[in-house]
Amino acid sequence: MFQNKTILDLIQRYRLVWAVGHASAVLNWDFETYMPPEGTRARAIANSELALLRQRFTLSLKELVGQAEKEDASLNEEEKGVLRVLKRQLDYYEKVPPELIEKLSKTRAEANQVWRIARKKSDFQSFKPHLEKLIELKREEAEKIGYEKHPYDALLDRNEEGLRTDDMDSIFEKLIPNLKRILAKVQKERTYPKRHELESVKYDKRVMESVNNSILNILDMPNETRFRMDISTHPFTTGFSLNDVRITTRYEGKDFRASMFATMHECGHAIYGLQVSQDLEYTPISGGASGGIHESQSRFIENVVGRSRDFSKVVTPMLKSKFKFLKKYDAEDLYYYFNLVRRSFIRVDADELTYNFHIAIRYQIEKQILGGEVSVSELPSIWSEKFKDNLGIVPKTDSQGVLQDIHWSGGGFGGFPSYTIGNVVDGMIWNNIRKEIDLPKTIRTKDIKKIKAFLGNKIHKWGSTFAPKDLLRKEFGESYNPDWLVQYLEQKYVG
Ligand code: MG
Repeated sequence: MFQNKTILDLIQRYRLVWAVGHASAVLNWDFETYMPPEGTRARAIANSELALLRQRFTLSLKELVGQAEKEDASLNEEEKGVLRVLKRQLDYYEKVPPELIEKLSKTRAEANQVWRIARKKSDFQSFKPHLEKLIELKREEAEKIGYEKHPYDALLDRNEEGLRTDDMDSIFEKLIPNLKRILAKVQKERTYPKRHELESVKYDKRVMESVNNSILNILDMPNETRFRMDISTHPFTTGFSLNDVRITTRYEGKDFRASMFATMHECGHAIYGLQVSQDLEYTPISGGASGGIHESQSRFIENVVGRSRDFSKVVTPMLKSKFKFLKKYDAEDLYYYFNLVRRSFIRVDADELTYNFHIAIRYQIEKQILGGEVSVSELPSIWSEKFKDNLGIVPKTDSQGVLQDIHWSGGGFGGFPSYTIGNVVDGMIWNNIRKEIDLPKTIRTKDIKKIKAFLGNKIHKWGSTFAPKDLLRKEFGESYNPDWLVQYLEQKYVG
């Protein structure tokens, strides 16, 4: 796999960077799960020192990376991947001065605190100056990173390697009119209900835990050997190594599908982390290809598998045996409960069909604001306009609107599009997996290993050997093509 001497040297020296990343991951997992709240300050200090250490160790690889670049022509795919990923990391540290990174992290911390209160009070005015400052700094960052066409491109590329506004513009140009058409049809025919009485039914937490454990069994997770599940407010997945991947889930006490699908979503991320080739362990390419590709894996398990009719059939007997309140429901009822379709204000509550409207709105706003076309004071009114145009509804308060997401308070501009990329890639996987296996039958017979093998071979095993678009072209012959997502949704919702 790795033969080039310079690359082998690089991988050896990278171990220090890897070890710091490993330690930070354990600290963050502990912070989100078991740490008592008063540990917060010490943990923040430790984390920021570790981040500096990581930066210093990465920069110390510069000379070797330069050497490897000269040997580029003789490198194999994995070796090229190592070089590409390290160059990207170095590039950021070299272009963006430490003062700007520090200013950003300070402003972020302040803005986030103000945002928490502003969201509760629905008070955009108090958050406004902080958001203005953050946007100014992000523009400065974009200038330092550099771009060809649009300043937003610089930020998009940081989040999703190779992604440009041109990609997102053409994705949404195709997606939005089609989603509007499908949604109108679903609402007219009322095939998929807006509400379900099970949404308000309470569950016993211990029973829900046992449901989630059954889900882990169905998904054949290597529980207690290379994987574990804990609890946190916001579910997430983290990998300390390729043989120690953790997820968390949540228990809100009612509407049991939320906990079940959070578990499935995180399992999708975890399966990715567990199926990267063991040869890549401790190297710069042992992580996933990108946030968007990672999200495609979580959403494939959550939506394409988990919210399918066949999966409902598979889990219904198990669910009925555990939840006594499901006595009068059959698999078909549960399928519709898992797939309610409604136009809503809050992104994280959105269903599969309306979710991408929420991302389109944020994408367009981020692009305009980074491009200097609109000012921060105009955001609430632009938000309302875009909601009306896309979903036909207007939020009554800023808490339900522009203040709802944590992302902007953390300076996370350029991050939202990865969610839509995940859905678009799922359409492509759905199109391709059916050429090799009978997907409904595979789900119905709980032969999940087959699905995992397909995803492992096409995507997981490579880690980040290839940049996202190159990976897709290599495996599926095209990069982001939203047509398949439209076809998938069309077949599911109005087929
Ligand atoms: Mg996710």
